[in-house]
Amino acid sequence: MGILNTLLNVLFPPRCASCKREGDFMCENCVEQLRIKPIKGKSWYPSAADFEHLDGVIYGLDYAENPEIQAAISQFKYKFVKDLIECFANLTVAKLKQLKMLQGREAVLIPVPLHKKRLNYRGFNQAELIARATAGRFDEKIEVMLLLRRIKHTSQQAKLSKKERHRNLAEAFEVAGDLSVLSDRVCFLVDDVCTTGATLDSCARALKQSGVKKVYGLVIARAFK
Ligand SMILES: [Zn+2]
Repeated sequence: MGILNTLLNVLFPPRCASCKREGDFMCENCVEQLRIKPIKGKSWYPSAADFEHLDGVIYGLDYAENPEIQAAISQFKYKFVKDLIECFANLTVAKLKQLKMLQGREAVLIPVPLHKKRLNYRGFNQAELIARATAGRFDEKIEVMLLLRRIKHTSQQAKLSKKERHRNLAEAFEVAGDLSVLSDRVCFLVDDVCTTGATLDSCARALKQSGVKKVYGLVIARAFK
């Protein structure tokens, strides 16, 4: 893998997803331009009222204000550009550090699972990589747990309307572990992007049906439809 990667880097040097400059998949200059806003009160998107089950979403960036991150995320998802994980984790880590509700409390990160078929095809779950990179910066205070399983292989969601997404995703997830390990830790579902929130809401539904009281989303970016 190492030799192949080196060879590929020589033949096809990485380019910045945003400014296209050669050298890095997301150059330092463009990373610096990403605008991470501090969290104010409960102004999480969409407001909890937009969800049936989820209590809110914490996001690093807004697609609308940071178009460069959109290209970076799609590179990451389809080509697995490993170098970008730490850049993404900067965003989730910054947000978690701002959260008052985390002060003195431990948290659990539950990656949104991929269906077995898609996992086999892609070879990795981007949500899990983001969760692990994030948790890795908090010592033992934040732990990653794979507590959900995707039982429905849903078709590509991108082309569907908000209503169709919700219908498509109903009962797509089930609990895949003992939830008593959560005890009183703050529970976050991790994904790369939140668009309508349908996926996160469907995951939250599965957890809440099994007795979890509060479930939040944690994503790199939000994207309005
Ligand atoms: Zn750049």
